[in-house]
This record gives sequence, C-alpha cells and structure tokens, in this order.
Amino acid sequence: MASPRRIVVVGGGVAGYSAAAELRARGYDGALGLVDPSGLPYDRPPLSKGYLLGTKDAAGLRLAPEAWYTEHGVELHAARAAALRPAEGAVELDGGRLLAADAVVLATGALPRPLRVPGGDAALTLRTLGDAERLRAALAPGARIAVVGGGLIGAETASGAAVLGAEVTLIEPLDPPLVPAVGEALARRLHAQHAEHGVRVLTAVPERIETGSGGAAHRTYHLTLSDGTAVEADAVVVGIGVVPDTALAAAAGLAVDDGVLVDAAQRTSNPAVFAAGDATRLRRPDGTLARRAEHWEAAVRSGQAAAAGLLGQAPPEFGAPWFWSDRHGVHVESVGSLAGPGEVLVRRTDDGVPTAAFRLAEDGRLLGCAAVDGGLLIKAARRIIDRGTVVDPETLADPGDDLRRRAR
Ligand SMILES: Cc1cc2nc3c(=O)[nH]c(=O)nc-3n(C[C@H](O)[C@H](O)[C@H](O)COP(=O)(O)OP(=O)(O)OC[C@H]3O[C@@H](n4cnc5c(N)ncnc54)[C@H](O)[C@@H]3O)c2cc1C
Repeated sequence: MASPRRIVVVGGGVAGYSAAAELRARGYDGALGLVDPSGLPYDRPPLSKGYLLGTKDAAGLRLAPEAWYTEHGVELHAARAAALRPAEGAVELDGGRLLAADAVVLATGALPRPLRVPGGDAALTLRTLGDAERLRAALAPGARIAVVGGGLIGAETASGAAVLGAEVTLIEPLDPPLVPAVGEALARRLHAQHAEHGVRVLTAVPERIETGSGGAAHRTYHLTLSDGTAVEADAVVVGIGVVPDTALAAAAGLAVDDGVLVDAAQRTSNPAVFAAGDATRLRRPDGTLARRAEHWEAAVRSGQAAAAGLLGQAPPEFGAPWFWSDRHGVHVESVGSLAGPGEVLVRRTDDGVPTAAFRLAEDGRLLGCAAVDGGLLIKAARRIIDRGTVVDPETLADPGDDLRRRAR
C-alpha cells in the first residue's frame, strides 16, 4: 500500500486514540479522522473504580482534552461507522455520509458477554460511561446488588458497591476465579477479600432471573442459582467477560475468528485496514491464533503498532504484557503470564500472607509475576522477564529479597 494520505480511525477507545496520537507522533501529516458515537475519547478502567465511587468525574476520564484534537489535526466525528468500504476508499457513517479513507484503523473494542439464561437480559453490564451511570444510580446505600462474575470487572464492581454501602452478593462458579491471571495463592487471597469486606460470595451460576412487577424505580429481581439458592436483588450486574466487536470487520469480509485477525504489525486480511485493541486477535506467523488480550496496555500498544504499520515502519518492541486491577483497597498487577507450564513460586509475609507469585521456565527464566501492592517488584520483574534473565528461585520466594537489584 502506498503511504496513506487520508486515514480514518474507527473507534475512540484507548486503542483508537493511541493509534491517532502515534500517527502524529511519528510525523504523519495527512488527514486524520476519528469516528466514535461518544465523541471525545474516554478511558474505561476508572468506570469500575474512581468513577463508580464518585471520586472521578466524566471530564477526568478523557484521554486528551478537546483542544488536543484541534492542535493535532484530528477531526472527531461523533457518529457510528455503518460500513468500511476499503474498495471505494471510504468509511460510511450512519446516515450514509462517506468519509474518504485510503486506510482505516479499526478499533471497535469489545462488548460485554451476555448472560444467556432466561431473564439474563434484565441485568446491567459495565463497558461504557452510560453503563457506569446506570450502575451508579442503582448503588444506593442498602440496595441489594447481585454481581454475576468474580473476574476483574465483577470483583471491582462488588468492591465499589460495598464501599458505597450496598448489600452485595457475588455469584461466581469458580473458587477462586483468576488463577490463570495471578496464580492460585493470590487468587485465593483476593477472592477471600470479598467476604472480609461484607460481600456475600456464592459459588454457583444463575439459572434464571425473574423481574418483579414493581415500577422502574422499585423493580426487584429474583435469581435462581444452579445450587437452588434464591437471591433477591434491586439490581443485577453481569461481568462475565467480553466478546470482540467484529461486526464491521465481518461485514467488510475481513478474516475474523473470535477477533479481527491481525499480524504483529496489526495488518488485517485487507491491506487498507489495520486493527487494534480488544477487537483483535493475533495470528502468529505459523498460522496459530493467540489468546485475545483484553487489557488497557495491550490496547495502547496495538494502537501504536498499527500506526507504525500504516506508515510502513517496523512495529515497536514492547516486551511482556501487563495489567492491573484495584479492589477492596489493594492494587493488583501482573506482568508476563502465570498460566502455562513451569514452576510457580509464592512470596509470603512472615505471617504467611501471599504477596507475589512468580512463574519460572525449566531453565530458570522468569515468565510471569503477579503481586498485590507490589508496584516496584512488578517493575523489576518486568525488566527481568524482558531480558530473559535466569533467577534463583530461593530469592524469589524470600520476602526480604529486593528483586530490583537483579533487574538493574
Ligand atoms: C469497567 C472496565 C474496567 C477496566 N479496568 C481495567 C484495568 O483495571 N486494567 C486493565 O488493564 N484493563 C482494564 N479494562 C480493559 C480496558 O479498558 C480495555 O482493554 C480497553 O478499553 C480496550 O480498548 P479498545 O480501544 O480496544 O476498546 P474500547 O475501549 O471498547 O473502545 C472501542 C470504541 O469503539 C467504539 N465503536 C464500536 N463500534 C463502533 C462503530 N461502528 N463506529 C464507531 N465507533 C465504534 C465504541 O463506542 C468504543 O468507544 C477495563 C475495562 C472496563 C470496561
């Protein structure tokens, strides 16, 4: 593809925004448009944290102030893209307006996985600012809130609802969830925190949700769980994962398989379309498909890589993936991967409380590290993982050891 002169980014989440910012940072001086029905791009992680708690307002969610878009020549279109038309060099907006585009960055993100049980569509989900506003309105002190799913977003929601004085029931089939993300010991510690903070935890799945007959303001919900337990709630929130939003890609004939398929430069099967963020899935050079990354930093990085790819530049090297989560007053981080073969070592306090988990390859290389309130440790682990350094397992498990010395 010749160097594009008119690029349209579809989707103004952090992936689309990062692609636009990186195109300008790399010197792209052609036309650049960004299409998203919500207008000014905003960040999602605070929706289940500060925004839910009321410590952050909508203006605080913006990825950049409005003036940034003017200063950087990024034209915002507060609209939904109805179709990609790569053969015609255009993106069609709802209503039929065409935007000229020699190249497109598709960054449509993901949608909450629906709860497929009778009455499941009565539940709230948490993906957008509108979702967070609806949820916040339901979180009055004393309100009975049923949270379905104890993964990252469900756990943060349960935690926030408890802080706001709601009476929270968390319904999750695994005890504990998140073992692949943070290892068994930390997953147990984190899951146990719910009960310590007054959240009732039920190990089950909902089989049906019946909506009471009260008017909208007094509506109640009756959940029947797989173990026969009945739960009464004033609101039900579902956080059981996401599905990539591939509608535009599929309609445009791009290769899609549980995500828009991309290579390391974020190229899709159509040379004029690059894709980034939660909507995408990496197809490795040998044809195998990677697990979808559904975290903030991965979305930023893939947006940046798409920008490089579009300009015919080599994709940046990023190193091990990372994510964080905040709940019940603790900060959780994970770098690399705790899932897969190898040995997992756990670092504990003198009282036996697990604070970090490490996964080591057979040859002693560090492959993953997760920690609770261990930001500096994670930073050091990240450097060690990226360098492929071999570490002594005993020092990893020693709470007195300063991993940073080995990361220098
Ligand atoms: C509540 C919440 C909390 C989170 N917390 C964390 C966390 O603590 N740590 C972490 O690492 N990650 C977290 N994440 C995940 C992280 O926010 C996502 O990985 C990231 O937002 C993905 O960015 P994206 O741009 O790919 O997709 P999205 O943020 O979903 O953005 C996609 C955008 O595309 C737009 N779009 C879709 N279709 C169209 C169309 N046809 N036309 C135009 N625009 C369209 C949508 O309106 C949306 O704005 C959280 C996510 C949520 C929802």
